[in-house]
Amino acid sequence: MKIHTLDHHFHLPELIASYLIETDEGLILMEAGPDSTFPNIKKQVELYGFKLSDINAVFLTHIHLDHAGAAWRFANEGAKIYVHPRGKKHLIDPSRLLKSAKKIYKDQMDSLWGEMRPIDSDLIYALKDEEVIDIIGLQVEAHDSPGHAYHHYAYRIGEHLFSGDVGGYQIKTGPVIAPTPPPDIDIEAWQSSLDRLIALECKHIYPTHYGKSILNANDFLEHCRQNLLFLSSKTEEVIIQSTSKQEAIDQFEIVFMKFLKDHIQDESLLKQYLQIGPSLGNFAGLAFLHLKKLGLSLI
Ligand SMILES: [Zn+2]
Repeated sequence: MKIHTLDHHFHLPELIASYLIETDEGLILMEAGPDSTFPNIKKQVELYGFKLSDINAVFLTHIHLDHAGAAWRFANEGAKIYVHPRGKKHLIDPSRLLKSAKKIYKDQMDSLWGEMRPIDSDLIYALKDEEVIDIIGLQVEAHDSPGHAYHHYAYRIGEHLFSGDVGGYQIKTGPVIAPTPPPDIDIEAWQSSLDRLIALECKHIYPTHYGKSILNANDFLEHCRQNLLFLSSKTEEVIIQSTSKQEAIDQFEIVFMKFLKDHIQDESLLKQYLQIGPSLGNFAGLAFLHLKKLGLSLI
């Protein structure tokens, strides 16, 4: 088995990956990525000497646009799309998903994400938890892993773990950070998912953001947990101490930037981190959770 990392070149290099997995029996892809960067992926698949129609299947960790936006393009080329049961309906009819994304991204929606067209339900396979798919001579195992999103799977192939977003993101040798956009963030579920993935004792980890880590899988997942709990407790703290929503956002930004700068010396790496996990995006998901828990609302 060969695992090729494909770079979507989403504004900057090394932010979003798909993994092209090759055996003598064929090809599968982990993560479709956004539609806006689809031409970059097509080019790289061709550089490896393949056509898009050679890809037998695409496994999606979840249906956020940076992971699943281009799935319909691969389905059009004949690939079967594997996804969490809760994600299937959004691939068949992406209108609700697009509507809620539009609320966040507004008129940047098209330039950021491109199109997302419906996929014929016959081409989508909703995996059961722990289901093993025999494909191109490999066993791909699905692991239900909520926390970042309720419709999230991580996939294991032997000692390799494709962790999507639940394992956190890491660019180069920077810190492992748990991405916490609204509205599904659930710290308890996230911790159970991390426990579950750690129990698999995989050697290698391939987060979507970005690329195979030099850390072993379990160290990576523990770093994710540590930083998730740190930023979560900081969010709770700034919410309790702030008298307005803006003050809480500003205070979180100070904490978040200090955290990043404590771990990252290189300016261009810092830029990559802020592009893939902006302070406000991370705050929004954690704040939503803590406000609900505290029974508070910020004006
Ligand atoms: Zn996500």
